[in-house]
Amino acid sequence: MDTNPINYELIFEPDLKKFTFSGKETITIVCKKATKIISLHCSEIKINSCHVKSKGKIINSAAKTNEKKEELQITLKEKIKGKASIILEFQGILNDRLLGFYRSQYQQGGKTKYLATTQFEAADARRAFPCWDEPEAKATFDISIIADNKFTAISNMPVKSKAKLGGKTLYKFGKTPVMSTYLIYLGVGEWEYLTGKVGKTQIRVVTTRGNKSKGKFSLDLSKQLLVEYEKYFGIKYPLPKLDLIAVPDFAAGAMENWGAITFRETILLYDPKTSSTKTKQFIAEVISHEIAHQWFGNLVTMKWWNDLWLNESFATFMATKFVDKFYPEWDLWNQFVEDAMNIAMGLDSLKTTHPIDVKVNSPAEIREIFDAISYDKGGCILRMLEHYVGEPNFRKGLVKYLKDFKYKNAQGQDLWNAIGKASKMPVSSMVNSWLKQPGFPLVEIQQDDDKLLIKQNRYLLEADKKSSKGLWEIPLEIGLSNNTITKLFSKKSMSVKIPKSTLGFVANYGRKGFYRVKYDEGILLDLKMLVDQKQLLPIDRWAIQNDLFSLCISGNEQVQNYLDFSDAYYDEDSYLASINVAHNLASLYLRAFDE
Ligand SMILES: [Zn+2]
Repeated sequence: MDTNPINYELIFEPDLKKFTFSGKETITIVCKKATKIISLHCSEIKINSCHVKSKGKIINSAAKTNEKKEELQITLKEKIKGKASIILEFQGILNDRLLGFYRSQYQQGGKTKYLATTQFEAADARRAFPCWDEPEAKATFDISIIADNKFTAISNMPVKSKAKLGGKTLYKFGKTPVMSTYLIYLGVGEWEYLTGKVGKTQIRVVTTRGNKSKGKFSLDLSKQLLVEYEKYFGIKYPLPKLDLIAVPDFAAGAMENWGAITFRETILLYDPKTSSTKTKQFIAEVISHEIAHQWFGNLVTMKWWNDLWLNESFATFMATKFVDKFYPEWDLWNQFVEDAMNIAMGLDSLKTTHPIDVKVNSPAEIREIFDAISYDKGGCILRMLEHYVGEPNFRKGLVKYLKDFKYKNAQGQDLWNAIGKASKMPVSSMVNSWLKQPGFPLVEIQQDDDKLLIKQNRYLLEADKKSSKGLWEIPLEIGLSNNTITKLFSKKSMSVKIPKSTLGFVANYGRKGFYRVKYDEGILLDLKMLVDQKQLLPIDRWAIQNDLFSLCISGNEQVQNYLDFSDAYYDEDSYLASINVAHNLASLYLRAFDE
């Protein structure tokens, strides 16, 4: 970009009767080259006045909006270079489409009430103020909001000063750190606050009136999470406050606006009397996900939307990791294998799948491009990577990455390089073999005494020659009775020696790898005994039959073999394994019944 924003001074005045807002804006910019045209993003906004000031004088200019291009173009009478400012006055709509600056409607005491809130990711900040609305165009923001006295106002930073203007109040918020536009937040409503503190950081759960008591679980958990994340990342939470805001009308589950996270009410408010444990778990995971973003995403931001999958998969991966620390009894990682991994493998074994890493031309394509394959498979790849390099190396690389790129933008490749350096392992080529090609492998194993013959091929539900290509760098971990053998398996085939006395082994130990395994008949017989005697981890007991069943569906195995093998689960006491076996048997029954 030849013209860069440095700072935005913004004053918003929403009108919750007419559902409009007016805005005043001064953008400090730097033009690297002499220029006569300045283009910025702008949509559904009426510009009332526009001036450009350079070197102390007003430059004659004409401003024109282009709704199709979502652009405001300012044409100057003479060229400017270096520092300048754009001074704008404009009018916008508090829409009811749950994006940009919008109104949210709710009922209270039989009355319809409104509040104003924002949702800017991916590219809707431009509906609230003209700006360079791309993640890489980071700047600082001085935000002010003028609101009726019955309301209070919230933004990313704490209130710096408050002044009465007749029936209204002017809230001035502190200057933000350098940040992306999609993370800006504006909120005006009849809020109620439940407040806590961690060190010097103020944490609040913000709700509509009468609901704050239901924010206690979320507030307590957020306090714990903030402490743990600070420790893990080795970087203090970068802002003076963190708000968790429950919004009655909200499109996504939650949004990680820096210092002002918004949630669907049902995902933030927990009533111990009426909410289930499942709800509690979901609330915990979403809060953990959004707090992880405060570092990964907000402090260090993706360069462009093609890395959105990494932003999201990473936050989900961290979320599970940290909630698991507080609630080990929820068995989250095994649930992850049963849910996210199972879903991702199901979709990724179809011919119609796509690689995680794809080109994104415009933010409008995001919804089409990113799906469970991107996010769930993405999470599986991160988990596999952490296991491959080991937790300390993974963390070391991550911390280095966050420190090197803080207040800046980075790409996935920067993270792989950092973890590669920390671990001295071939991380980049390993990870990219999973990101850049579609699908995932089936690892076939035949045992010849103390020698294992191992092959890899793409796993497809319906195999055909055209789509069967692929070669992955597979972190193989073979679980023996009291140790494991690890190998990076990056060729079509290889052989591995195991101790002579080995009686049964698991090839994808702990189900850390994103691949399926096909064992030969002899190995399966040994495994059947080990499953029956519960000598394997519950997740491996789950995985062996899950793979076997999937192989029956894709025609790689006889259904009879699955039925024989399922005998071993007669006494199964693990919830996930029992449920999956029952589910698979029921599905076979239904298929047989249809025939
Ligand atoms: Zn997220």
